[in-house]
Amino acid sequence: MKAAQLGRTEYDTRIRRAEYLASKYPFAAEVLRFYARVAEFQKKLSAETKKDVAREFTGRGPVSVRTAFPAINTPNVLPELKNFLSLIEEAAPPALAAAAREISKLDASSQRSLLQAYWESGGVNDQLIGPFAQFVPRAFAQPFSELVAARTSVPPAVSTPHSCPLCGGQPLLGVLRPEGDGAKRRMMCSFCLQEWDFRRIYCPACGEADEKKLPVYVAEQFPHIRVEACETCKVCVRTIDLTKDGNAVPVVDDLAAIPLSLWAQERGYTRLHPNLLGT
Ligand SMILES: [Zn+2]
Ligand SMILES: [Zn+2]
Repeated sequence: MKAAQLGRTEYDTRIRRAEYLASKYPFAAEVLRFYARVAEFQKKLSAETKKDVAREFTGRGPVSVRTAFPAINTPNVLPELKNFLSLIEEAAPPALAAAAREISKLDASSQRSLLQAYWESGGVNDQLIGPFAQFVPRAFAQPFSELVAARTSVPPAVSTPHSCPLCGGQPLLGVLRPEGDGAKRRMMCSFCLQEWDFRRIYCPACGEADEKKLPVYVAEQFPHIRVEACETCKVCVRTIDLTKDGNAVPVVDDLAAIPLSLWAQERGYTRLHPNLLGT
């Protein structure tokens, strides 16, 4: 992803897609409308902090995303967090709203530590503060991690890295992008949302490469979303197939596919990394 895509356009694309999918899939409408509010906030936060992030990195050469916490630790970060918590308390489903209320009761240094702990774990430690409370630092930090990652260059891939080559985050989603007559498989990072190239037949959790042990399921309702399972480790990854729907926006389409989460659970598959809303 190029830095230019992180501007207004990318957030607007996500918001528009959430609104479209909310009308298409009534069972996901509440979740998607809530997500659209979150993305509106992220868009504003990204625009407001872009200069701070740039200043932090000017003249520093290549940065490592995970050691870049000062980028988020700007003087305005706590007032912005306060605004975000008010939005969540007002617009989120009850469990998330309750988590936001708990966080808003913390003192300033505890709030700062919460953001720092999330940032430094690269989002890998989801149990940091409970599955619901995890949403707040994750959604709030995302515009920062995207901005920082956009200033970092990907080292040439030597193999198939199981975690994001920019920040070490876990894969959130697979993405199939059209290339030539076929498609190229990429992984999208759960922490900084950047993508990296990935082998087509390969489990990102355990490295299984035997096609017979890697079944792919596609539900009629979501012809452009593949559930790629692994019989060896019972982990599954959801892949958004852009050759089937070129208008899909991976992070948003994933949120709409609630029935696929239930389906995978019933069959004993665990998702490699949950999406922003924990499904
Ligand atoms: Zn990353
Ligand atoms: Zn596996």
